[in-house]
Amino acid sequence: MKFKNKTSCIHSGELKDLEYKGAVSPLYMSTSYAFDDVDSNRYPRYFNTPNQTALAQKISVLEKGEKGLIFSSGMAAISSSLFSNLESGDHVVFQNDLYGGTRNFIKKQFPKYGIEFSFSLGLEVSDFERELRPNTVGIYIETPSNPLFKIIDLRKVSRLAKDNKCWTIVDNTFASPVNQNPIKLGIDMVVHSATKYLGGHSDISAGAVVSNNFFIDKIYDHAKNFGGNLSEFSTWLLERSIKTVFLRVEAQNRNAMDLAKFLEKNQFISSVYYPGLESHPDYLIAKNQMHGGFGGMLSFEMNENINTSKFLKSLRLIKPSTSLGGIESTLVIPRSTSHALLSEEERLNQGISDNLIRISIGIEDPEDLKIDLQNSFNIAANES
Ligand SMILES: *Cc1c(COP(=O)(O)O)cnc(C)c1O
Repeated sequence: MKFKNKTSCIHSGELKDLEYKGAVSPLYMSTSYAFDDVDSNRYPRYFNTPNQTALAQKISVLEKGEKGLIFSSGMAAISSSLFSNLESGDHVVFQNDLYGGTRNFIKKQFPKYGIEFSFSLGLEVSDFERELRPNTVGIYIETPSNPLFKIIDLRKVSRLAKDNKCWTIVDNTFASPVNQNPIKLGIDMVVHSATKYLGGHSDISAGAVVSNNFFIDKIYDHAKNFGGNLSEFSTWLLERSIKTVFLRVEAQNRNAMDLAKFLEKNQFISSVYYPGLESHPDYLIAKNQMHGGFGGMLSFEMNENINTSKFLKSLRLIKPSTSLGGIESTLVIPRSTSHALLSEEERLNQGISDNLIRISIGIEDPEDLKIDLQNSFNIAANES
C-alpha cells in the first residue's frame, strides 16, 4: 500500500517485532549473521543489516527514489557518491558557494586521482553551461545555498545535464525532504547530511544518498570498500528521529518565516536572507520548486554599529554553536566558522561580510527567540 508522506515517515521501512509485538522497530546489534542463507550474507559494512535496510527504505521513500544507502556522515555519503561516478580524466562542475567540507574534499582529493573540477561563477543555468567541457560527466549543486540561501533552478539544471549526458547530484541537507524533493524535479542523486534535519536533535552523525537502482548499485559497489557504514545504534536512533521530521521541519519553517519578517523590519538589521521573503531575489524559483515551506535557516547582516562579540555574549536562549538543523536554535558567524578557510577576497566575492549571522531556527516559541535577539541587539548597539 502506498501512503502519503506523513504516514510513510512513521511507517515505511519499519521492522516488525514478530516475537514480542512491540510497536517500534527492534534494534539488531549483531555484526555476525548465519551464512547458511546464501541470499542474505548480512554484515554491517555491506549496508544490509535489518536496521540499515529499514532506514534506507524510509529515507528513499521520503526522497522519492528507488533505493537509498545510509552512511556514518554526510561526507561519507558525498565522497562515496562522487568517487563511484568518476574516473581519472573526468570533469565535474560544482556550484560556487558549496558546503566547506565538500569544497575541501574535492580540492584535496580530486587532483590526486586526476579528476578535474570547476566552480560555476554564478548560480544561473548559464553559469553551469559555461563550465561544461568535452569531458564533463556531472553537475553537483546545493540549494538553498549556504549562507545566503540563493536558489538554483533544479528543473533547468537537470535539463541542461540530460542534454549533455551528465549526471546530477543535489545536496538536499538544508531543504530536507519536507520542503524539496530534487528527484521529482529531474535530479539523479540526492545526498544528505542526516546529522542535520533528518536527525534533528543534534545527537547523531549520519549521511544518506537516494537515487534509482542504477546509481545506488554503482555507489554501493564502492561504498562497501570505503567502509562508511553507520553503526547499528545510530541507525536505529535515526529511524526513530525521522518519524518526527515533518512535525519538526514544519514548525521550523513557520518560525523561520516569522523571524525573517521580524528581522526585515528591525532597525538594527541591514539585510535579511530568507528564500521565503518576497524581497529575496530568488523567491519565485524557490516557490516553484520547494513545497511545504522554505526551510529553517536564515541569515542577516547587522548594522555596522553593532558589536558582534557583545551580541554573541548577550544571547540567553539562542546558542552560538556550529552545525544546524536541531530542534534548538543555534547561530554561527560564517566568517569565523563555515567559511573561515576562505581568503578575505573569496569571502567578499561570495557576499559574506564580517557581521553576517546565520541562524538555524529551532522549534521554540518564536516570541522568545525574538526577545532574545532584540535584547542582544539593544545591548550590543549601546556598548559600541
Ligand atoms: C553538514 C553538512 C554536510 C556534511 O555532513 P557531515 O554529516 O558533517 O559529514 C554536507 N552538506 C551540507 C549542506 C551540510 O550542512
